[in-house]
Amino acid sequence: MLSVLAMTLAYLTITAGLCAFNRHNETNIRTIARLSHTDPLTGVYNRQLLEELSNSEFKRSLRAEEPLAIYMLDIDHFKKFNDRYGHVAGDSALAAVATVIRNSARRASDLVFRYGGEEFCVVCSAIEEKDALTLADAIVEGVRAAGIVHADGENGVLTISVGLSHQARLVDTDAQRILESADVALYQAKQSGRNCVVQNPPAEDGGNQVCSERA
Ligand code: GH3
Ligand code: MG
Ligand code: MG
Repeated sequence: MLSVLAMTLAYLTITAGLCAFNRHNETNIRTIARLSHTDPLTGVYNRQLLEELSNSEFKRSLRAEEPLAIYMLDIDHFKKFNDRYGHVAGDSALAAVATVIRNSARRASDLVFRYGGEEFCVVCSAIEEKDALTLADAIVEGVRAAGIVHADGENGVLTISVGLSHQARLVDTDAQRILESADVALYQAKQSGRNCVVQNPPAEDGGNQVCSERA
């Protein structure tokens, strides 16, 4: 009788131990998965995840007949910032800019990635053109308003340029095309004097640039 009781107790102890081990393991696996998709400096998603997600997000939006916006963002005159203030200050500025972007793109479906170096990418599904532009403007304004001193920057502070590609109705192309179109817009934003947003293809009202004049 005693030995049956002892065996039952041993069985229960081992089962409970195994369950705890599995739970712990699952938590570890989730943590590893999250870390492997996160950029350690800025806390936003990394480029590897962008490559994994962008096409599935594109296909989902295509099926759901929802609009999609992709933004390419690049900090202005960042080489000069590093040259003047040093790499450590550069790292802090990068993290601060990422925080502004995350605080602006705050819907659960907004995804923020570090594309590489001082470049970021934002993917927003189910977003109307007007809201997509408002978000781009909020990011440009937010970075400028953060007031990170940059003696060689636009107006003495660190700024960012944004290229936006908003697709009201997706056609059967792929996410890479939209990314490239946002990149062309980003190039035009740099050519237009930085610290601004350019949209490509141009907005429905014909304009393709906002917020070029800032105090
Ligand atoms: P533009 O306005 O045309 O974008 O000029 P830029 O100077 O920002 O662009 P450029 O591509 O010439 O220089 C980018 C700089 O970003 C160079 C590099 O030192 C800096 N950078 C890239 N990644 C990091 C990083 O992780 N930390 C720091 N501190 N600097 C970085
Ligand atoms: Mg760059
Ligand atoms: Mg730059």
